[in-house]
Amino acid sequence: MLPLDLHTHSTISDGLLSPSDLVARAARHGVRALALTDHDDVGGIGEASATARQFGIKLIPGVEISVTWRNHTIHIVGLGIDPTNAALLTGLETVRSGRAERAERMAQSLARVGIGSSLEGALRHARNPRLLSRTHFARFLVEQGHARDVKRVFNRFLAKGKPGYVSHRWADLDSAATWIRAAGGIAIIAHPGRYGIGKNLMRGLLAEFRDLGGSGIEVVTGNHTQAQFHEFAALAREFGLLASAGSDFHGPEESFMDVGRLPELPPGCATVWARHWQELIQ
Ligand code: AMP
Ligand code: MN
Ligand code: MN
Ligand code: MN
Repeated sequence: MLPLDLHTHSTISDGLLSPSDLVARAARHGVRALALTDHDDVGGIGEASATARQFGIKLIPGVEISVTWRNHTIHIVGLGIDPTNAALLTGLETVRSGRAERAERMAQSLARVGIGSSLEGALRHARNPRLLSRTHFARFLVEQGHARDVKRVFNRFLAKGKPGYVSHRWADLDSAATWIRAAGGIAIIAHPGRYGIGKNLMRGLLAEFRDLGGSGIEVVTGNHTQAQFHEFAALAREFGLLASAGSDFHGPEESFMDVGRLPELPPGCATVWARHWQELIQ
């Protein structure tokens, strides 16, 4: 098991644990370095850092930025960012206002299939009203009995092509990479196996991302298969990108993988921690 986890969520976005509770759980699971990477918001990093100090573990400030690249939604994780950087904060603010506008359209779309008041309902499930995610709508829909659990709600209502799904334009890939680098961080493509894009498009994405100054891709993540660990380890090597690893933990009952429960990477990977956080592997 790896003693680190470089992709996790708290109640600042669509996670179920507060930043402090997340850090405490990570420490209990033997994590020595944890990145908090909430969607489009860095508001949890202060609290997470303070708790990490108490537990004697390292908190790597992070963020997961929503991006639209050639009509696909791609997530870019920034690690080691300065959460007070003005360019980053302004960029994230723009993405969040897009979320607010999208949430209204989602609610209208759900109203057309007879589900009313979903914006208010989703907001009740969001601790941070600045950051409304499909996950908050999902939890409201489960609460209302429209499906048994969050995964089923996504399949029925919130995935692309379903009644609660509306298309949306997120940040550009270039902008996200620029904000992360401006804030002194490194940019990583999150869960590359989840985008459902073909091999050629994936190669196009990796080449463009590398040329924009991107540093790495997640090789190990909550919903990659063993075969995908190897596939993306090979692609990272081929494109000169570093390998990263993160659970994408959201909450004890909702996630594929718990925080701090990451298997080892395939042998021979050049990892982000060997390059940037040497002390973690000593
Ligand atoms: P958003 O960024 O608001 O579009 O919401 C995306 C979030 O929804 C992801 O970060 C996941 O937490 C969650 N999500 C997306 N697809 C699924 C799914 N099929 N099952 C459960 N959660 C999902
Ligand atoms: Mn999420
Ligand atoms: Mn993601
Ligand atoms: Mn995530």
